[in-house]
Amino acid sequence: MNIHFNKPLLLPRSLDHIREAFTLEHTSGNGPFTAKCHAFLKQRYGFSSCLLTQSCTAALEMAALLADIAPGDEVIVPSFTFVSTANAFALRNAHIRFVDSTAWHPNMDCSLIEELITPRTKAVVCVHYAGMACDMQALQDICRRHNLCLIEDAAQSIDTTYQGRALGTFGNLSAFSFHESKNIICGEGGCLAINDPLLHARADILWEKGTNRSAFLRGEVDKYSWVDVGSSFLPSEITAAFLYGQLESLENIQARRVKNWNRYHAALSPLAEKGYLEVPRIPEGSSNNAHMYYVVCRSGDERTRLMAHLKSHGIQSVFHYQALHASSYYASRHGDRKLPQAERYTECLLRLPLHYHLTDEEVDEVVERLHGFYA
Ligand SMILES: *Cc1c(COP(=O)(O)O)cnc(C)c1O
Repeated sequence: MNIHFNKPLLLPRSLDHIREAFTLEHTSGNGPFTAKCHAFLKQRYGFSSCLLTQSCTAALEMAALLADIAPGDEVIVPSFTFVSTANAFALRNAHIRFVDSTAWHPNMDCSLIEELITPRTKAVVCVHYAGMACDMQALQDICRRHNLCLIEDAAQSIDTTYQGRALGTFGNLSAFSFHESKNIICGEGGCLAINDPLLHARADILWEKGTNRSAFLRGEVDKYSWVDVGSSFLPSEITAAFLYGQLESLENIQARRVKNWNRYHAALSPLAEKGYLEVPRIPEGSSNNAHMYYVVCRSGDERTRLMAHLKSHGIQSVFHYQALHASSYYASRHGDRKLPQAERYTECLLRLPLHYHLTDEEVDEVVERLHGFYA
């Protein structure tokens, strides 16, 4: 058997839409398929505005510009995350203040945030690890009390709700990813939700290379010109057409992932009860979008042996982030404040295969090999 960690899903509708983009002779960005994706995402999730981007990384870079992050500003970011969460703000020469994860979930420990706030703090970025919600109530309280911009790195959390409301609607700005490793994909792609109406107009401009081309296309001005900084953040219509085909099948894609996730969880929870490993705990108030199934081993050495064991049976499992506070780029800037949980997840967390094409038999095979390892 050969069980892949991930397999991209190609839907016939996506190919039809791409063909149509050529028929319409509109393959560059900001065309009809981009508009369809925007309408779908706003309608389903309730964002006040959203813009497709070339990646979640690009969406985070737009967020840093919109939040007016300037040299010397401080931004609070979890350590156990992808580099882009921090890099988007480091690019603006902000000082990154890293927060540890909780002992029971890789999400940031919100009780550690306030001690990091100084007069220079501008924003808090939260990451919903494995698509599961951070404590949004605590985060919104903190950000309101200290007048900070709340930014959600919602890369993994499409279609998750917190207390019944979609993730991505809590932050002033929220970034999603449609990278091939996520639930909904278009190769490389992302989206920025802009929930602060005061930022809508500037977001349109940054997105279109610092010009008011969007206002021109809406007929609001009779020519477009350079009005602000910006970049080419928008994806092509080919990308948007691919993405729209996925969005049309979102319910079906999600149902398959949730079924696989639940099958893992039912079969692996007994190992957790015996204390051999940890399985994911869904935070209070959060739904589960089944982005990822992971286990946390008792040591780094045990994880290495478990990975090798799975590999010897043709099963591809992968570890995840290297805690950013200890990275070669940031360690000297971070100082010696310890973040033990982020380091534990770096060493001990292992992700199991989870994708649309995964069958019940394959899930059962992975489960059996895990049980065999601990027997
Ligand atoms: C995948 C991911 C990103 C980056 O997404 P891209 O679309 O590849 O730029 C950023 N943050 C988190 C938490 C992610 O999981």
